Amino acid sequence: MKIAKFMFATALLLAGSGISFAQPKVIAHRGYWTAPESAQNSLASFTKADAIGCYGSEIDVWLTADDKLIVNHDRKYKGTDIVMNEAKASEITAIVLPNGENIPTLDAYLKLVAQKPATRLVLEIKSLPDYNREDLCVEKIVKALKKYKLLDRTDIIAFSINICMEVKKALPEIPIYYLNGDLAPKSIKKLGLAGVDYSMKVLREHPEWVKQAHELGLGVNVWTVDSEEDMRYFIDLGVDFITTDYPERLQAMLKK
Ligand code: MG
Repeated sequence: MKIAKFMFATALLLAGSGISFAQPKVIAHRGYWTAPESAQNSLASFTKADAIGCYGSEIDVWLTADDKLIVNHDRKYKGTDIVMNEAKASEITAIVLPNGENIPTLDAYLKLVAQKPATRLVLEIKSLPDYNREDLCVEKIVKALKKYKLLDRTDIIAFSINICMEVKKALPEIPIYYLNGDLAPKSIKKLGLAGVDYSMKVLREHPEWVKQAHELGLGVNVWTVDSEEDMRYFIDLGVDFITTDYPERLQAMLKK
């Protein structure tokens, strides 16, 4: 009883000091694509992230030349001349991924996500060459998330400030994390975003941003953390989320 009281008091002190003692949550980067029979941003990659109990699974979304939404990472698909924001959706979805699936539409993806309620969707909206295209992309993504009733299970991430602010305008309650790494937490707070989702390089250069973010009530996510050494560093730094290509490796470390 005395020990419990002491631990509770210690926890309160730690909370007051801004030191986080909760473990970071695991997010599968581009889904759990390093698993067998998976591929980056495939439907299987979300299913596999869900199957191992990831907190979240990340995807990348593009607006095609004919105003459709598709899920893929690279702007230009390797080994082809197909550019995501310059090609028609029909050309893009004809591409076969290494696991035999075709590149999915966002609609197909969200249909699957809606059937797997235990895993949060971390949806990256890719930057486009002009703001009008970005605005249209955001409008369509908002509509799709509403259609599948996923607003309370989705975090939005983006490199483009324009995209972040457009999403915020349409969905003031949805958590939005900024990816570009060039803004300190106090600027993110001023913009009304939920937090930062920065590269390992940026957060190793600015480890103080983690504490600053927490003091402002913001969250911190870091990508792409794949080695045990890097995982240990960011667990100890007290980030809230770790985005990794190897979610089972991170889960095993967190159990130790
Ligand atoms: Mg991404």
